[in-house]
Amino acid sequence: MDYDTIAAVSTPIGEGAISIVRLSGPEAIPAADRLFEGKASLTKVKSHTIHYGKIVDPETGRTIEEVMVSVMKKPKTFTREDVVEINCHGGLVSVNRVLSLVLDQNVRMAEPGEFTKRAFLNGRIDLSQAEAVMDLIRAKTDRAMNVAMSQIEGKLSGLVRKLRDELLDMLAAVEVNIDYPEYDDAEVMTGKLLFEKASRVEKKIDGILSTAKQGKILREGLSTAIIGKPNVGKSSLLNHLVHENKAIVTNIPGTTRDVIEEYVNVGGVPLKLVDTAGIRETEDIVEKIGVERSQAALKSADLILLLLNNNEELTADDRRLFDMIGNTQTIIILNKTDLPSHVSADELQRLVSGRPVIRTSLLQDKGTEELEQVIASLFLSGGAQAKTETYVSNTRHIALLKQARSAISDAIAAAEQGFPVDIVQIDVKRTWDILGEIIGDSVDDSLIDKLFSQFCLGK
Ligand code: GDP
Repeated sequence: MDYDTIAAVSTPIGEGAISIVRLSGPEAIPAADRLFEGKASLTKVKSHTIHYGKIVDPETGRTIEEVMVSVMKKPKTFTREDVVEINCHGGLVSVNRVLSLVLDQNVRMAEPGEFTKRAFLNGRIDLSQAEAVMDLIRAKTDRAMNVAMSQIEGKLSGLVRKLRDELLDMLAAVEVNIDYPEYDDAEVMTGKLLFEKASRVEKKIDGILSTAKQGKILREGLSTAIIGKPNVGKSSLLNHLVHENKAIVTNIPGTTRDVIEEYVNVGGVPLKLVDTAGIRETEDIVEKIGVERSQAALKSADLILLLLNNNEELTADDRRLFDMIGNTQTIIILNKTDLPSHVSADELQRLVSGRPVIRTSLLQDKGTEELEQVIASLFLSGGAQAKTETYVSNTRHIALLKQARSAISDAIAAAEQGFPVDIVQIDVKRTWDILGEIIGDSVDDSLIDKLFSQFCLGK
């Protein structure tokens, strides 16, 4: 199907050596050609070639920009349409001028994600691959990027397709059973066999789902709360992890008033750090808001870094913190070990109750490496170095896999209880439909629009 022609600046907004205006659609080549002055007409050049020339305003005859233009004819392009990329060498102003000339040529401004959406609509990639393109843009660590890459290559889609094929085979066999009950062969496809096959599918879905926890961490980051009473070294730790002075470090208690969020890569684990405002009773309104927000952050945290001051006796505030952490994965950090210890070893051991304890001196940069190693080992099994990995990491995919799991469980239960096969069949078909939504075989248009609108412009 032919759509209209779209264009957008495909490189990040800001100063760079090169900015690219990308066009896609039936008018892409003639539209670019009307603005282009070079050795050859772009309508005559071979596909997948690049050409030096100028962009000239057809009305005034003025040269706007010196460019290199790539011409890629369908179908071997990202969108499966004709694609032209105009590489501009000047800054933001000139690339915008080129874009506005392009938009005068019967070309429309692309919506966010529209290039990728076309790749999907034209059948070049499926929905899970399109979503992976977005993940790739947002990947925060190398490992997250590998996961997104493997999804773009279709690894997850491959697994899902195989499952659907198995389900289809089951349905076909059941169909035979219903249509020709007199066939002896078909009778083999009894509840027992159906039960076995469905159980196998269930196991496979469980296998994919078991990667979800790590996959989600890699994709979205591990929400990490740094807690501890004022002055214990929270900002110092945050600064260390961020490697730049984004949070205020000061020895006036209670000055880190806002909750600051920062992503850092710790041994391949993307941590979404939430700095907290020191947890204690306070009369100060601004400080109070900070504390309340910290407590909220604590509730949604996947990981808590709880700091204690080695140089002071443990206080009621410290004890309260231990009450607040509940079952959340927590690493205890005993900071200021460069100063004499006033912490009771017995009480500490009792409070810690088996959780990992790291001794640090943030002032002297000691113990931080060990902390990073512990974080990586807690959250990444199989080593941080693993290369191509198929993780399910997208919330939408995880939710659908869970639904599919519950549908196939229904099928298994029905088969087990000796329900007629056509009843079992309904649940198998439902499983098949749900899995189809992952790759976009059975999703409605409004979902498609919603998904692609989350992309950035020009992608
Ligand atoms: P926060 O209030 O918990 O965020 O604590 P800060 O990170 O602002 O640190 C409070 C003070 O303790 C600052 O003056 C830091 O320089 C100091 N500090 C942090 N870590 C250490 C440490 O390991 N040893 C010593 N001696 N001082 C530290």
